[in-house]
Amino acid sequence: MKQNVSMDKIQAHCKTVGFVFPGSEIYGGFANTWDFGPIGVELKNNIKRAWWKKFVQERTDTFGVDCAILMNPRVWDASGHVASFGDPKMDCKNCKQRFRADTLIEEHSKGAVSAEAMTNEQMEAYIEEHNIHCPHCGAKDWTPIRKFNPMFITSRGTLEADADKVYLRPETCQGEYVNFLNVQRTTRAKIPFAIAQIGKSFRNEITPGNFLFRTIEFEQMELQKFCHDKDSMDIYNDYKQQAWNFVTSLGLQADHLRFHDHDKLAHYAKAACDIQYLFPMGWQELNGVHHRGTWDLSRHQEYSGKSMAYLDPFTNEKYIPTVIEYSIGADRLTLALICEAYDEETLENGETRVVMHFHPAIAPYKVAVLPLQKNLSEKAKEVFSKLSTFFMCDYDEAGSIGKRYRRQDQIGTPMCVTIDFDTLEDNTVTLRDRDTMEQIRLPIEELVPYITNKIAF
Ligand code: ATP
Repeated sequence: MKQNVSMDKIQAHCKTVGFVFPGSEIYGGFANTWDFGPIGVELKNNIKRAWWKKFVQERTDTFGVDCAILMNPRVWDASGHVASFGDPKMDCKNCKQRFRADTLIEEHSKGAVSAEAMTNEQMEAYIEEHNIHCPHCGAKDWTPIRKFNPMFITSRGTLEADADKVYLRPETCQGEYVNFLNVQRTTRAKIPFAIAQIGKSFRNEITPGNFLFRTIEFEQMELQKFCHDKDSMDIYNDYKQQAWNFVTSLGLQADHLRFHDHDKLAHYAKAACDIQYLFPMGWQELNGVHHRGTWDLSRHQEYSGKSMAYLDPFTNEKYIPTVIEYSIGADRLTLALICEAYDEETLENGETRVVMHFHPAIAPYKVAVLPLQKNLSEKAKEVFSKLSTFFMCDYDEAGSIGKRYRRQDQIGTPMCVTIDFDTLEDNTVTLRDRDTMEQIRLPIEELVPYITNKIAF
């Protein structure tokens, strides 16, 4: 984020160029849902790939899974979601919109105040004292705070009367817990090791606004590290640092990030920390690292009746492992990276160009192939075919070359390859850099290694 840009501007840009569209738009939309468009899906896939590369592919101690969204409902009894999962909600009596009280406070204070440790009474008093109005209609006529279970419920069974209640998972990590022993057995992993997953979660979130930040379905990229309790704090601190390194290596500036240690911990937790990002609406959670003790596996042992103990082959000690969780929302990180990349630059000739300075590894297209004129398209398509077996490439022959460069800047394509009449003579092309706008001349056969090097992560 090179300047203070509003979320409205980011949202409008995303829609204009095809990153993200409002969900079910032709029906007037559907609150807190968004559809990723042609370049948005590339961006998000690249972000998920980058995460998987760092946290699974490059590690010898982490194994991936892809678990079912619908799980035995007993899982959610064991996890505590059925009984107690609930956010503090209040309704605006005027427009009937429902909001999370903690979010109202945090957004009103632009992230300066954390409502985490507040009781419901303290949150109500804060909202009263600071004169917080309904963000939707502007009224100040709140109901008291009530707990609200955000799990989506559906049913299975052919006859409605027989139908069993099932839940859309509100978090992915339960898939790792219930498969802990399967993964350990099949990989022969020794503790400490981690199981990782990227997948959809669903929460009946009712706080509107802020674009992709809080949606009712979203993808989590998370891992659960199973360890001996004596090593757990070191592992926790290590993941805090790895989580930080990951987002900075993708391009989030360190001065737009901060650690936020939780004031209030779950009764089973030893420590919890978020990394917050300075979104246009203020400091907000980007990811969490949580020390969950032995709570998760103990509960599944209790509710399933199956032993979740690990037998250490060296010491013969049998114990329930402690879990360190690291979790980051793919959509929320995509939003942060879009906010960070967005830039409006004034050029020497006084024109403004909108440019998305994505890290090349996550840019939707790595390169755009542009014939200078339409009668060069045969050669340009040859170059496109060559490059597109290696990278996601765009091809554009419509409009002036200047306009085509601008279009690629707006979607963050790091390099443009222009085919001109010299190309027909000597098989060289012009390669233009998105950020510096500098141009160099390269032989076609050098393009693949050159681009590969530029997009490395
Ligand atoms: P929040 O306090 O913002 O509701 P949380 O503490 O409930 O988040 P976790 O359950 O720890 O979040 O989920 C891990 C990560 O998943 C979050 O750090 C965030 O990046 C992402 N996430 C959580 N809820 C949503 C949502 N409704 N929409 C998009 N991303 C989400």
